[in-house]
Amino acid sequence: MSEKLIFELSCEGRTGADLPELDVPERPIDEMLDPTLLRGELDLPSLSEIDTLRHFVRLSSLNHHILKGFYPLGSCTMKYNPVVNETISRLPGFTSIHPLLPEEFVQGALMLMYELGEMLKDIGGMDAITLQPAAGAHGELTGTLIMRAYFKAKHQQRKYVIIPDSSHGTNPASIAMAGFEPVEIKSNEDGNIDIQALESALSDEVAGMMVTNPNTLGIFEREITKVAELIHSAGGILYMDGANLNAIMGIVRPGELGVDILHYNLHKTFSTPHGGGGPGGGPIAVKSNLADFLPVPIVTRTEDGRYSLNWNNPHSIGKILCFWGNFLVMVKAYAYIKSLGSDGVKHTSEMAVLNSNYLLHLLKDKWELPYPSTPMHEFVLSGEFLKKYGVKTLDVAKRLLDMGFHAPTIYFPLIVHEALMIEPTETESKETLEDFASAMNTILEEAKEKPELLRKSPMHTPVRRLDELKANKELKVKWKGGKDKS
Ligand SMILES: *Cc1c(COP(=O)(O)O)cnc(C)c1O
Repeated sequence: MSEKLIFELSCEGRTGADLPELDVPERPIDEMLDPTLLRGELDLPSLSEIDTLRHFVRLSSLNHHILKGFYPLGSCTMKYNPVVNETISRLPGFTSIHPLLPEEFVQGALMLMYELGEMLKDIGGMDAITLQPAAGAHGELTGTLIMRAYFKAKHQQRKYVIIPDSSHGTNPASIAMAGFEPVEIKSNEDGNIDIQALESALSDEVAGMMVTNPNTLGIFEREITKVAELIHSAGGILYMDGANLNAIMGIVRPGELGVDILHYNLHKTFSTPHGGGGPGGGPIAVKSNLADFLPVPIVTRTEDGRYSLNWNNPHSIGKILCFWGNFLVMVKAYAYIKSLGSDGVKHTSEMAVLNSNYLLHLLKDKWELPYPSTPMHEFVLSGEFLKKYGVKTLDVAKRLLDMGFHAPTIYFPLIVHEALMIEPTETESKETLEDFASAMNTILEEAKEKPELLRKSPMHTPVRRLDELKANKELKVKWKGGKDKS
């Protein structure tokens, strides 16, 4: 296979397109388009159709992806998403509708959004929902804006939102963007929220708390109802980051634990592929006392069974995405939940937790588990003990690539030194988990016997180890051929 890049394959005059003769009067381009919008020379490569296709197929096989192999990227839930859900989301009835069509033309689409909302509310144990946010972080922002609007309506000045030190980086960022100050509290030695630390952080200036459950150590917050009680007694709101819903859906409803606002990551838990930079979905659901603040419009069902977009929400924080959210992501989530049914949804979480515990069982005698509580759908190892061989967690991650696996999430959560955060997901077989465990254990032997091998890896990937410092400082994302080659 040619290793040449598309510009190097270019051959002057060659083309992959065959357009018919022009049969309308020709008009100069700058008559039809504003000349200030036109670029001069466009240095596009000239290639035949087959060379172009080969180029893109080759590119698509360079990266690791879930159809190539195991992808235990902790916190990201890189599970296999059934192809049928993709197929359904590509039906022309879904892809060809215009967002500004009158309601009576798109009753089916509105019904789908309404029913998806109902199903998500049921899974979350919540009262009202918006499907509008485009991602988890966007849901967090929406949720904290709702908190702000809620206290404004009550004429209360509240400045702080509490987060545990295990929280995902987007949590403090969203809190700050919504105009609050994040206050971090330490986790206890079990990796759970430290109740005493929470009690001493509480005051009438605290707007609430943002909690991930199970948390980023993969551990269920056992004291969550106590946490909710404390937050509520201080007049605050409990926000749950639902990125880890894959561990608990169908088993426990966050709303019943005292959660007031919850986000869902459709692109983690509900069948949209994650990580390719494509559209996502971060619906948020709230308890009834916060429903008036949800973004507009809300999809509602009238008594005669028709669906409409309701713009009349008096205290709404407004719109937070153009049109109605990422609709095709909603279609996939809808197809996924409908095809699983409520038993299937529960089974999914049970298998995610079982797989994670089985994999941990295969690793725990040889690797270090700094927070030894029984994990849920993911667990966090530490590579700290490898330092005595001159090896870092980064080297382990790179060596895994040579063995055909995607690396786990590394160096997160921050409270674990040299962290390796492993989330196998429910869609992997026992054999795949065993292969991964044996790769990890082989790497451990290599660390002892030939650590330089780990430090040099990966050796068999299309791109070897990058100089991360240089990549950060001299970021070049545009290929320049010819004279200007750099
Ligand atoms: C992924 C994730 C987020 C952010 O979600 P995005 O959809 O990537 O914005 C927040 N918290 C946790 C724990 C996550 O894993």
